[in-house]
Amino acid sequence: MREGSLDAPMRHPIDWQEDDFYDEAKLDEELRRVFDICHGCRRCFNLCDSFPRLFDLIDGSDTGELDSVDSKDFKPVVNACTLCDMCFMTKCPYVPPHEFNLDFPHLMLRYRAVENKKGDVATMAKQVRKTDRNGKLGCGFSGLANWATREDNRLTRTVMETVAGIDRRAALPKYAATPFTKQAAKSMPAVNADAPAHGRKAVLYATCFANYNNTDIADAMLALLAHNGVETEVVYPECCGMPQLEAGDIAKVADKAKSVARTLAPYVAEGYSVVALVPSCALMLKQEWPLILPGDTAVKTLSEASYDAAEYIMDIAGKEGLADGLAPIGGEVTVHISCHSRAQNMGQKATQLLRLIPETKVRPVERCSGHGGAWGVETDNFETALKVGKPVVKQVTKHVAKADGPAYVVSECPLAREHIVQGMTIAEADTTNIHTGMDSGIQAFQHPIQLLAHAYGLDAPTDRETSS
Ligand code: SF4
Ligand code: SF4
Repeated sequence: MREGSLDAPMRHPIDWQEDDFYDEAKLDEELRRVFDICHGCRRCFNLCDSFPRLFDLIDGSDTGELDSVDSKDFKPVVNACTLCDMCFMTKCPYVPPHEFNLDFPHLMLRYRAVENKKGDVATMAKQVRKTDRNGKLGCGFSGLANWATREDNRLTRTVMETVAGIDRRAALPKYAATPFTKQAAKSMPAVNADAPAHGRKAVLYATCFANYNNTDIADAMLALLAHNGVETEVVYPECCGMPQLEAGDIAKVADKAKSVARTLAPYVAEGYSVVALVPSCALMLKQEWPLILPGDTAVKTLSEASYDAAEYIMDIAGKEGLADGLAPIGGEVTVHISCHSRAQNMGQKATQLLRLIPETKVRPVERCSGHGGAWGVETDNFETALKVGKPVVKQVTKHVAKADGPAYVVSECPLAREHIVQGMTIAEADTTNIHTGMDSGIQAFQHPIQLLAHAYGLDAPTDRETSS
């Protein structure tokens, strides 16, 4: 239990529609109030790079206190924040309802919102964050896109680094030949009427990543739901807006929240649960959207009906019980519990889920991978992303080395998983001075849901081009 307020932590709505929110003098006053508390506290020293940057900045100033720090030097502190929420959720004793009323991630968000309003966010950075537009193009020309984004394509990656600010070394998701929504429109698996959970209804909110990139994850979830008797509709109106949130474009996030909530409202009214395949997106539906649009009934109702993928499967396991048919998969699984899963306050659902697979050792790793979505592939951040992820890479490498049989490395966040595997490759290359590529002997599955489907023998069709 943490010190501070005895009441449960709560979060205030984000005042992004108020003029004061963008008042730079008031923002500076709040930054100074919060930074001063953090400097005295220092609990978050090892969570990310924001806090070490802040403490070094203040400690290295003339007086060793905040009064001699120039506000323009705050920017690197803000830039290092991935909005992972871990300081708010796991460390800070001063979050509301404590009188200090401290919400560090949302203060970083406010700083970025002010920058965005002033036009200080680079145009190309905004283009890279248009995941639906880029996803449609990427799938339409998947052969070309996947060739151009390969890490060993020096020509295109140099151009991308120069023009779009994407670090040439960063592993980028590959594009599927056909978006998942189109695949699902052609064929859906038959629902198992004998499963204990038969009668449940769910909407699979595919998310941009599973819709345009690794469609195997969505395929696996669809097969799992059908096998467990859940009548499922695949609906993906548009991206949840997490990439825009990272860039401080809160108005754009609000537009997306309204649009998705309106589309899903009829399903929710008919008793469908909404299942998101990527934890950042589940977090948006459940927590961030209602804080951005606190008066919107459709957003509120949707948030109450939303589940993370592993959370939904464990809800079935706990209430009705899962359908029969799980078989051992051999070897050992390392499962990374991502920050945005932890921020949902739901416990280690992916670990619990994987432990349902018979005779399979599961080792969880619960620490930030450092990826941070689109943030982690940007030239300014890639080194920081690798640095923050090093402890996870070390732990996972140890687990993989000990694995007796196939080594599986999965994460609730498939992007974090790829970042961890790339970190292992780079660490290996540093040690041996040989670039080993991505062939680390680790099984290709990215998401715990894929492993559960694998244990049921429900693997995705192999004739689809995916990122795995
Ligand atoms: S939200 Fe995450 S990255 Fe940002 S300051 Fe808190 S712990 Fe660090
Ligand atoms: S966010 Fe809270 S716990 Fe973390 S350093 Fe600041 S005051 Fe301390």
